[in-house]
Amino acid sequence: MKCDRCENESAYSRKYSGESLCSECFSNSILRKTAKTISKYNMIKNGELVCVGVSGGKDSLALLDILKKMSDTHNFEIVAVTIDEGIPGYRDEALEIVTEFCKKLDVKLKIYSYKNLFDLTLEESLEMREDEKTSSCAICGTFRRRALDHAAEEIGADVIATGHNLDDGIQTFLINTLSGDTNKIGWMNPEKNSMKIRKIKPFSAIYESEIVFYAFTNNLPFQSEPCPHMNEAIRTEIREFFNSLEEKHVGIKNNMHNSVLKISQIMNESSDKEKRICEKCGNECSGKTCSVCNMITNLKKERS
Ligand code: SF4
Ligand SMILES: [Zn+2]
Ligand SMILES: [Zn+2]
Repeated sequence: MKCDRCENESAYSRKYSGESLCSECFSNSILRKTAKTISKYNMIKNGELVCVGVSGGKDSLALLDILKKMSDTHNFEIVAVTIDEGIPGYRDEALEIVTEFCKKLDVKLKIYSYKNLFDLTLEESLEMREDEKTSSCAICGTFRRRALDHAAEEIGADVIATGHNLDDGIQTFLINTLSGDTNKIGWMNPEKNSMKIRKIKPFSAIYESEIVFYAFTNNLPFQSEPCPHMNEAIRTEIREFFNSLEEKHVGIKNNMHNSVLKISQIMNESSDKEKRICEKCGNECSGKTCSVCNMITNLKKERS
């Protein structure tokens, strides 16, 4: 079968649009879609330094690859930052992949570890938690946010870019809904960006399966071994739920994504009055101190 856009053989069938694309036209479509999201929300401005959070997984390496291509032709610069959680056996492979890939792309890489920043590896903090109600990923994600903030501040970045895709976004929406955390739904809106350092998700309108194909067809060397804690979180169940819906109702994830954009905008406007600044770190939150500062204080209290 031929590609719908050129004379090459088709390599990818985009079910939700009915298109058949060759590898090159597919990759170009991902580049264009990413550029469109960036310009729609004015995510990167002229002359800015972008800190790209790179874990070694397909999403973050694909994002680094695309932002590097864009930075070669646009007026912004990128630095890659990898956070070492201290998960035995898992992170080492990723660090090697990221280091090699950054060398190949000629992108500067900085590595920060939980141990250096918080005096705790993830494994150590999991042993210290009082019960298992707080999942590994909740602790890990909180630490990672703070670690990335710290890294971006230290390197003087204006923006933090992460590889979160459309699937991540709709999963997060459902997780926030199921936990009753409506403030967080408002914070998901990409137009809302009043943090000290802007957080951007240039892949937020792209299916996870398309990022996988982009990484595969561009020979990106991503880590395939999942984190040993991955299946502890409800996110895995929700991912499977959306994937099975998409199988039967093609395009349903796109519809959900559009609904999330609308709902988060409304939630954002209505919760704007409650906006406060964390007394400890200056980031936006709904109480006196933010969830990151709270978690770190609590864990340290339990240790002493
Ligand atoms: S799966 Fe969870 S514990 Fe593992 S790296 Fe990701 S957030 Fe951290
Ligand atoms: Zn083509
Ligand atoms: Zn804080």
